[in-house]
Amino acid sequence: MSAKRILVVEDDVDILRLLSRELEDAGFEVMAFDSGMRGLSAVRESSPDLVILDLGLPDISGQEIARRLRHTGNIPIIILTAADEVGTKVEMLNAGADDYLAKPFHVEELLARVNVQLRKRSLGATQKIGELTIDPARRQVFWAAEEVRFSPREYELLHYLAGQPGRVYSRKEIEQNVWGEELPPSSNVVDVHIANIRGKLRDAGGFGVIRTVRGVGYALKS
Ligand code: CA
Repeated sequence: MSAKRILVVEDDVDILRLLSRELEDAGFEVMAFDSGMRGLSAVRESSPDLVILDLGLPDISGQEIARRLRHTGNIPIIILTAADEVGTKVEMLNAGADDYLAKPFHVEELLARVNVQLRKRSLGATQKIGELTIDPARRQVFWAAEEVRFSPREYELLHYLAGQPGRVYSRKEIEQNVWGEELPPSSNVVDVHIANIRGKLRDAGGFGVIRTVRGVGYALKS
């Protein structure tokens, strides 16, 4: 899966540079702007996965940008505020920001908030991977036009693997994230669930959707 793209608008170039570097180090693709208007038009042209907005910009307020973006789409927005602007929290959330952070803040904190927003978004959005469609809002799965019914655990497992198609998830990761605990080494419950998911997809015409990486784990075909 390609890197998530984050657009940052901040007129303090030192902060802008720092944020760009930290976000890039964290594996994101960054588009950085020190002008609100340029940032706004760049969002429209390039539809990033998330926007980080400074509230106090010389040409147009971050709040106004958030409001305009909200009219045209649902990209997650995190607003950065100066300490004396914290009182405007309600206004910011009303304007359409998904989250806000008061300066000075730790970059780790911002990265954590970014990941929360991206995860929320990926949990809610319908995902299409080839012929496979996963609709998390309805917990439905389709192969082409046919609905495939899974047990709750099978669904969770498939949805988890779909978090990053092509990535190999280890059995340990799967156990921790889908079962909420590590299972005894002798347990074959993950393999059994994988076999069930494969069988159901096959019945609907989906072959080779989940790849076994011997000794490591499983991956959804990207
Ligand atoms: Ca500013």
